[in-house]
Amino acid sequence: MDWDEFAHWGKHISDWAADYHRTLRDRPVRAQTRPGDIAAQLDQVPPEGPEAMETILSDFERIVMPGITHWQHPRFFAYFPANAAPPSILAEMLVSTIAAQCMLWQTSPAATEMETVMLDWLRQAIGLPTHFSGVIQDSASSATLAAVLTMRERALNWKGNREGLSGQPRLRIYCSTEVHTSIDRAIWVSGIGEDNLVRIPVKGPLRGMDPAALRAAIQADRSAGHLPAGIIACTGGTSTGSCDDIAAVVAIAKDEDLYTHVDAAWAGAGMLVPEFRDLWKGVEGADSVVFNPHKWLGAQFDCSAHFIADPESLVRTLAIQPEYLKTHGTDGIINYSEWTVPLGRRFRALKLWFLMRSYGLEGLRTRLRNHVEWAGELAQKLDQSDAFELVTDPVLSLFSFRLCGHDDAAQIAFVNRLNDDGRIYVTQTRVAGDIAIRFSIGQFDVTKADIDFAYDVLIDVAKEF
Ligand SMILES: *Cc1c(COP(=O)(O)O)cnc(C)c1O
Repeated sequence: MDWDEFAHWGKHISDWAADYHRTLRDRPVRAQTRPGDIAAQLDQVPPEGPEAMETILSDFERIVMPGITHWQHPRFFAYFPANAAPPSILAEMLVSTIAAQCMLWQTSPAATEMETVMLDWLRQAIGLPTHFSGVIQDSASSATLAAVLTMRERALNWKGNREGLSGQPRLRIYCSTEVHTSIDRAIWVSGIGEDNLVRIPVKGPLRGMDPAALRAAIQADRSAGHLPAGIIACTGGTSTGSCDDIAAVVAIAKDEDLYTHVDAAWAGAGMLVPEFRDLWKGVEGADSVVFNPHKWLGAQFDCSAHFIADPESLVRTLAIQPEYLKTHGTDGIINYSEWTVPLGRRFRALKLWFLMRSYGLEGLRTRLRNHVEWAGELAQKLDQSDAFELVTDPVLSLFSFRLCGHDDAAQIAFVNRLNDDGRIYVTQTRVAGDIAIRFSIGQFDVTKADIDFAYDVLIDVAKEF
């Protein structure tokens, strides 16, 4: 393909993109294909000769699009949102075009310097104090892994990377029973081992870990000769939005000299709104905080904002060249690949710059506030209906509910029926052992009318049960 053809198809694709978004409500939200349907339509051997872009694109429409679940559909209420606001898409087009590998400052100074400034914009936006520095990780899973590795190295007096874990005391990490599976995986990958992840029971309306139980678990481990290394707290757990009492957790961590990581992957975006910040009161005392602008905020995947109170300990854990420790922060140059597990880095700060400038923080806050308000209204309406009862109250824009008078199998059948119907998309979770239907509002273009429509669909489909 030459660049004249590229220009032609590039215009075609950006027109297609605008049409796609304008007509998204006409499509079923979740893909309606069965396993193997798409693979069966793909040639089993690669082509020997060139094919025309016209043919490739028409096959894309015919074969690929039916197998897409439309995450940008305004009536996507499943999981958490993975938004891609139009200015973010435009920035990603530019980034794809330039295709720079931004692992070191000198491999694209603009990417590094913009990352520093954009993470500081985000820091201000969510109300973290100035002692936090930020880095973009590809995902919250990676940020949590980096934090767990830092906990490990700090507890082992920086010997783990060199000597391994054999012969060391058992490292212990604490979290609630409500944390995301990315915490389990960070514990596996770091070599600490699942048996050393201590899950503290939760209590209270926000289902946060019981501080007294946390303190007792740490004491018991010390008595047993284990080595407590850190605490992973959560703000806005994936299942029902559970929130730990961060101030209480941080106070215990300080008493016990433990490193604290706060996983606010979804809920962190909500912290742009000052009146929601009570949910993570005390966060200023944490060592590490992650939130995903690629979820609720509108910067498309991947873009995970990782804030660290003491970047030296992270760099000391992950930097492959120890001499960087000596110059870090003093010569004005940051090589962000020293802050992350992967070496290679995309230019991910550009979409944040485009996004925040295009909407302004107030434009983003308006969306967040609307979603929270609509979630509250819908939860109440469902609870008042004869068909449904609320299981967990909204935390920001996430709540769970179930069909009244039905067992778990019926709740799952209801979710499947809704998703086969295609007008809305929801997923289920388990709360205290029982199935509940999760409802998460946060797609960038969702309107109040979409929420009213979702209520009608829920009532309509419930009649079959
Ligand atoms: C989504 C989510 C994660 C994982 O985020 P990735 O960026 O996909 O790794 C972790 N924790 C919570 C609370 C989440 O909601």
